[in-house]
Amino acid sequence: MKSGITVTILGSGTCVPSLERSSCSVLLQIDRAYLLFDSGPGTMRRLLEAGITIFDLNYIFYSHFHPDHTAELVPLLFATKYPESHRRKTPLTIVAGRGFEDFFARLKTVYGQWIEPPTGLLETMELANSSRDSYRSQDFMVESAPMEHNEESIAYRITGAGGYSVVYSGDTDYNENLITLAKKADLLICESALPDDKGVKGHLTPSLAGKIATQAEVAKLVLTHFYPACDQVDIEQECRKTYSGALELAEDLMRLEIGS
Ligand SMILES: [Zn+2]
Ligand SMILES: [Zn+2]
Repeated sequence: MKSGITVTILGSGTCVPSLERSSCSVLLQIDRAYLLFDSGPGTMRRLLEAGITIFDLNYIFYSHFHPDHTAELVPLLFATKYPESHRRKTPLTIVAGRGFEDFFARLKTVYGQWIEPPTGLLETMELANSSRDSYRSQDFMVESAPMEHNEESIAYRITGAGGYSVVYSGDTDYNENLITLAKKADLLICESALPDDKGVKGHLTPSLAGKIATQAEVAKLVLTHFYPACDQVDIEQECRKTYSGALELAEDLMRLEIGS
């Protein structure tokens, strides 16, 4: 049997505090590996609601360093030091675009040993932010490409042993790299921050995300990263102007099974 990928949207929101939409975070399960994409504020709580603890995580992938995507990293690392919960036996690997080592070093300047996990249990890895890059783990393949948002911004394509692939855009404006990276993917999780008539530079709208999904010929599109204005309009209708394939609007704790 070809093994699939389980996707859980942990946070479908933004920096705006919301009881319905936590800040950005997505969990992928591939066989026994748990991969977290971004960790905005509230991520650990949403993980618990999804039945997962921080000790189950094997990888964290950061799309960029804005606080609504990274802020929970500090409490997450601090929590791994709580003695009675010291159950991490395998390393946590953090993957991000170029500049992460510097970003993390500056966090350690502030928090020091409070966010220093026990020796050997934390690895970090930078992927290129100016060209495509890739990395192969035991359980899956990672490909990345630069996005139009921050200097360090990258999107990820994860392909499991079963051959199914999921793409996570992070924050971005419309760009060709995302179309190439997402080509014929089984699922594209794409930001759609603001309605069509409120679009801003550095972010997508429902119809732009739909245009990318159509050009990339993805099997399914999930829109996420909704500012409150998105909940005041018909996001699906706006996306349908440019995309006619399978479509879901992200909700916190929504779960999708890809390929199984
Ligand atoms: Zn951002
Ligand atoms: Zn964002």
